[in-house]
Amino acid sequence: MLQSQLFTETTKETPRDEKSLNAKLLIRAGFVHKEMAGVYSYLPLGLRVLRKIQNIIREEMESMGGQEILMTVFQPRDLWLKTDRWSKGIGKDMFKCKLNRSEVGLGPTHEEIVTRILKSYIRSWRDLPKFVFQIQTKFRKELRAKSGLLRGREFDMKDLYSFHESEKDFERYYEIIIKSYHKILERCDLRAILTEASGKGFTASTPHEFQVIAPAGEDTIFYCPGGDFSQNKEVAKLKAGDKCPICKRILIENKSIEVGNIFPLGTKYSKDLGAYFTDKDGKKKPIVMGCYGLGPSRIMGAVVEIHHDSKGILWPKEIAPFQVHLIQLQKNPKVKKKSKNLYNALLKTGTTVLFDDRDDKSPGEKFADADLIGIPWRMVISERTLEKDSVELKRRDREKTELVKIRELLSFLEKYVQ
Ligand code: ATP
Ligand code: MG
Repeated sequence: MLQSQLFTETTKETPRDEKSLNAKLLIRAGFVHKEMAGVYSYLPLGLRVLRKIQNIIREEMESMGGQEILMTVFQPRDLWLKTDRWSKGIGKDMFKCKLNRSEVGLGPTHEEIVTRILKSYIRSWRDLPKFVFQIQTKFRKELRAKSGLLRGREFDMKDLYSFHESEKDFERYYEIIIKSYHKILERCDLRAILTEASGKGFTASTPHEFQVIAPAGEDTIFYCPGGDFSQNKEVAKLKAGDKCPICKRILIENKSIEVGNIFPLGTKYSKDLGAYFTDKDGKKKPIVMGCYGLGPSRIMGAVVEIHHDSKGILWPKEIAPFQVHLIQLQKNPKVKKKSKNLYNALLKTGTTVLFDDRDDKSPGEKFADADLIGIPWRMVISERTLEKDSVELKRRDREKTELVKIRELLSFLEKYVQ
């Protein structure tokens, strides 16, 4: 993409009411636009990152047999009355509006809808298990929305629901999901700590959160530095300074961001909504369910909270908006022509490139923009580098620059960039 054509620009200004670091950086670099507290539009650079995160999640979900669907945002009141959630629990956070003589809600979560859909198709044990997920905008009346993308009133969620014939089968799947969530988060360069969220112990019959340590986090966890124990403060029986019940090391306390949440639902929704199947012995039983949430937009905010420095963002390779930020340093015809050729050659190799071809910016401005935007590799082409038939390459997370001969660039890209 040509930076001269990009309709966004970097800016030093951020909205006065914006206190959150992730939002400030993302606004300044032109990834998102703030509409109101907890409500952000995604601009070209931001949408590329969000889509990459969603695609990593999609890939992992599909590899575990997940089938993607897209459910409605509108939620019928009558359905939510059946599970007694219209005015209770999450139902209290639901945006609602009048429609004729009834009301509809905007989906804050989708257990009701998904159970009613699957109920129409599952008849016997032969139809189970089933795994269904969606990636969609959710709406919640969050009381405080001061953490940028970490807490939106309108935000992106991947929600997966699993349907089983028995608790045992659910537990087997729960373990698979835990591994898959770690893999997804590692691909986004986030190290998550599996955390008990119920206080009932470390079993598949209780909810767990994936917590990422960060000062901006709204949660607090007590965890073992050895990685074998973690409890959310809200439910913790132990505290910082106590011994880890597993390895006896001392537990520490930290602020953290909940990026994922996995939950046994048991038969609550299947019973309330009449989702039964016939087991091997011909008996009618309620379907056992689990639900598994991940927040792509919160992950994007968490990555910025963790991977940044005083100059800007440092995107992890797999979710960066582009692989290379090519900078044409001067506007003399030779540099311009060589840069353009190189840009086209890079595109041919399948490399994604943001090409700073702007004539009206100084080298200093271009470097500052590149640091703020945070693409993993900066590739500078200038009179000086061309004297040596080279480009200057620099990783966003390193100080060191190196000259690489243009004819050797391809193998360099294959080795380091792609
Ligand atoms: P929290 O305790 O932070 O409010 P939650 O328990 O309400 O989270 P879930 O309902 O389990 O969250 O949602 C699943 C995932 O969706 C969360 O782990 C998080 O990644 C994301 N998420 C939830 N609420 C928000 C929000 N307001 N803004 C952005 N992402 C969110
Ligand atoms: Mg919540």
